[in-house]
Order: sequence, then C-alpha cells, then structure tokens
Amino acid sequence: MSEKIKPVVYSIGAVLFVIMLCVGVYLNSKSEDESRRKSMIVERLAVGPLEENTYIVADDAVKKAIVVDPGDEPDRIIDAIKKLGVTVESVVLTHAHFDHIGAVDDLKKETGARVLIHKKDLESYGQAKDQAAFWGYTMDDLPEPDGFLDDGDEIKAGGLTFQVLHTPGHSQGSICLYGEGILVTGDTIFQGSVGRTDFPGGSIADLRNSFKRLIELPEETKVLPGHGPETTIERERKENFFMGEI
Ligand SMILES: [Zn+2]
Ligand SMILES: [Zn+2]
Repeated sequence: MSEKIKPVVYSIGAVLFVIMLCVGVYLNSKSEDESRRKSMIVERLAVGPLEENTYIVADDAVKKAIVVDPGDEPDRIIDAIKKLGVTVESVVLTHAHFDHIGAVDDLKKETGARVLIHKKDLESYGQAKDQAAFWGYTMDDLPEPDGFLDDGDEIKAGGLTFQVLHTPGHSQGSICLYGEGILVTGDTIFQGSVGRTDFPGGSIADLRNSFKRLIELPEETKVLPGHGPETTIERERKENFFMGEI
C-alpha cells in the first residue's frame, strides 16, 4: 500500500468503527425499549353508566402498575388488579369529572396508592360529589390527593416511564399520559372527536392548542381515550373532525 493511501484507509476504518459503535448502541437501546414494552400490559375496563375507560397499565416483569381514571365499579377494578397480580403505586387522574374518579376512594383504601391530579382540577375534584348528584348519581367521599401533576412530570410503573402533558380545554387541569408508545387522553381526544368544553373550566381555545400538540406526536402512537375505543394519532390526523377546527 502506498504511503499516500494508508492514512485514507485508516481514517475510513476509524469512521466505519465509530458508525458500527453507534449503530450497536442504537440497536441495543432499541432492544431494551422493545423488551420493556413486551412486558407492558394495558387493560381497559369500561365502567359505570357513562362507560368510562379505566386503564391498568403494568410492567408485568416486575408486577408494578398505575391505574388511570378509576371511574366506577371498584370491585371490578380491584378484581382485575388481583388477577394481574400487580402492585398499584399510583392512581393518575386525567381530570376530576365524577365519571373518572368514582372508584378512587376504594382503590386508595385497597392498594394504598398515591392519588395524583393536576392542581387546576382540584376545585372540581372537591365539587365532584355535587356534580354527580346534579346528574342523578351518588358518589363516595374522595380522599385528599397525595400529589399534583404538572407538565413534564414523569410517572413510572416498574421500568415503564410516562410523561405528563398538561392539555387544558375539556377542563383546566386535564392531562394526558404519554410514553411507551401509548397516549392516555382522558376526555381530551376520542376516536373521531374531542371532549366538550361547555363544563366549568372548559375552553375551546385551550382545547385547540392541546389538540395541536397531541396530533404532532408520532403517528404510530396508540391513543387510549376516556370513553370509546382506542385509536392512533395517524388515524386521528385523517379522521378527527377537530382537524378542521384548528
Ligand atoms: Zn370529563
Ligand atoms: Zn368522561
């Protein structure tokens, strides 16, 4: 090999080595991601007269879980938790409407999990019993929340990590949980539609901004709404009527 070519060959070799190293690291982190998701269980229970979706999201490898929006039928939810054999560490509330929080008290008593909510929905959390009565339903007293959720907070269930997105509009303190390929949306986005904004604290302008933010998430993200069937960001970009309102 001529002396002139040698440095070129060496530097090409060095570049290839670095590329292989990077790809190796990338593949490795990807497989870690995949194995974590493989152990993820998402169980949906439509509860109560308004068929509100309660989600149990668990890391089956270490049997740790969070429950999102335990709205009603506590016995059914507790039964499902026992069948999965998981420990519930957090009860996350997407917002404080009564149909999403009716089983919070029983769940807290049964599991000892911390109850988390956005501060801006604390007032309606306090009024939820009256709100339920107004619609003709009865509800147990609610426990004091153990902590407040804010945009950017991380919620963990074993090796699973979810990010809190503050998405006001349906209510001032509405949040979504995003991570591990899923987005739990409460009443912010449904398949084909969005939550109403005519309740106290609702704002169509805020909902527009929240919707714009959510629809920018990766298209393959699975959307798990507070009522009705699951969907994806890709499908909502194509079919949600609210795309024409933003
Ligand atoms: Zn609601
Ligand atoms: Zn609802």
